[in-house]
Amino acid sequence: MSKEVKIGNVKIGNGNPVAVQSMANVKTSKIGEVADMINELAAAGCDIMRVSVKDEEDARAIPEIRKRISVPLVADIHFNYKYALAALDGGAEKIRINPGNIGGEDKVGEIARALKSNGAAVRVGSNSGSVEKELLARYGKSEISLAESALNNVRILEKYGVDRIVVSAKASSVPLTVRTYRYLKQKTDYPLHVGVTEAGTYDMGIVKSSIGIGALLIDGIGDTLRVSLTAHPKEEVIAAKRILRSVGLDRNFVEVVSCPTCGRTEYDSISLARKVEEMTAGITRPLRIAVMGCVVNGPGEAADCDLGIAGGGGVCAFFRKGVVYKKVPFAEAEKEFLKEIGKLVDTNGRE
Ligand code: SF4
Repeated sequence: MSKEVKIGNVKIGNGNPVAVQSMANVKTSKIGEVADMINELAAAGCDIMRVSVKDEEDARAIPEIRKRISVPLVADIHFNYKYALAALDGGAEKIRINPGNIGGEDKVGEIARALKSNGAAVRVGSNSGSVEKELLARYGKSEISLAESALNNVRILEKYGVDRIVVSAKASSVPLTVRTYRYLKQKTDYPLHVGVTEAGTYDMGIVKSSIGIGALLIDGIGDTLRVSLTAHPKEEVIAAKRILRSVGLDRNFVEVVSCPTCGRTEYDSISLARKVEEMTAGITRPLRIAVMGCVVNGPGEAADCDLGIAGGGGVCAFFRKGVVYKKVPFAEAEKEFLKEIGKLVDTNGRE
């Protein structure tokens, strides 16, 4: 079990729910736009939001952004330790720094003092581009060099008495990312921030992130995650929620169980499955609804679902826990089935 680290009102590690993170992609000094984006992402399920602090204007924007949002704020800083101090004094609950590029160890010492006096957390780590030459010479580009580089950064902070540390070590290669976090898990009990870095554009990025993050979460590795996509950050949050649901770490949603369709399918179950998913998207109760192509296999294969539909011979059979209770002609099946979902959802509550 990893140590617990508090980031504002969110606790990570020590068995707490895996927190979803994302990052605003608007310049931080545009306070209104950034705060609106953070609030939009928080409503979509983001637990912690990060912003980059690139210059003084960005650093000065932190207190006002902090006031306008309710999720913990992380400031991402490179090179200038003064921005880290300003962000911490401005209310950022966590910073993300690279102790190696912040201007020397004395500067790290100053940041450490500010972290401790503000009760803030810090993420350090490595990525494929930041590994020290000595580690590369010794271990090549591998999980050992990546993870040891992250651990070097941890040791620098520990030297200054910092213990609210979160660690990351990301690569853009999925197998390397997974091996690196497995190695890290053996070596440290600080919470791990997992993700595949530079995962790419929407479609491929989701596949890479799902495999990388999913493999780790199934092994119990990862206390907070970010899906990195070259897309609107809201897509990262939606993908993150779906990953958590797929690996069983979030059960409070309506799972649509639907078959791939085949030559036995006689009605448009593809469009119906989509409609059911849209209709139930905001429901935070653990329910399973099946949309199956045919009556031959449908009810049996979806026997554990709260409600289901399967078609054949001009009618759709509606079933609960695999038992057919109603048959409706194809022409009215969709409308009737959506009505049945409405009833099911009302009896189970909606949030
Ligand atoms: S449930 Fe029926 S229609 Fe769907 S894939 Fe299986 S056999 Fe084909």
